[in-house]
Amino acid sequence: MHKLAVDVDGVIANFVDSMLPHMNAFFESNFKREDIVCFDFHKAFGMPEEDFNRFWAYMKQNGLWGSIAPMPGAAKQLQLLSQALDLEYITSRPAELQNTTLSWLDRHGFPEKSITMVKNKKDIIDEFDYFIDDRLEDCIGLAEIESVRRILLFDAPWNQCSELPEKIIRVKTWSEIDPDLFQ
Ligand SMILES: [Mg+2]
Repeated sequence: MHKLAVDVDGVIANFVDSMLPHMNAFFESNFKREDIVCFDFHKAFGMPEEDFNRFWAYMKQNGLWGSIAPMPGAAKQLQLLSQALDLEYITSRPAELQNTTLSWLDRHGFPEKSITMVKNKKDIIDEFDYFIDDRLEDCIGLAEIESVRRILLFDAPWNQCSELPEKIIRVKTWSEIDPDLFQ
């Protein structure tokens, strides 16, 4: 069975749409989803990283990680894909969020699979045939690995580019991610 690594935020968890109202309230700003054109929030918000870090602490203190909405159709489609693929969740969320994330997956009907919390996704690339991710830099790095068969880049304002390596396919919704893409 081929192995599929599925990212969490920006792929199965609608982090930006769920958290942007909280970020805007916290920083008294008025950013929209399309304004988040780079992966690092502090850069998108035009502030030093230390300043943005206050929001991460606020998020944790207020239990906001558990309140993130799932991406439409993600759980249903992963249930289908997990019949033919060995699926695992890979996230760069801090390790302390493991239990919060597992109960979130369960609550929203995602397949019960293991989750790996890694700071750097390059540490696990050798183990997987397929990836679904929203971080352009990670996807481009993965495309260079010979054993990686295909990468699905989940479309977002922060991962736009003029062209993509052949192995990377841009997808806009979970309904586009059907089993044919993993053959
Ligand atoms: Mg992500």
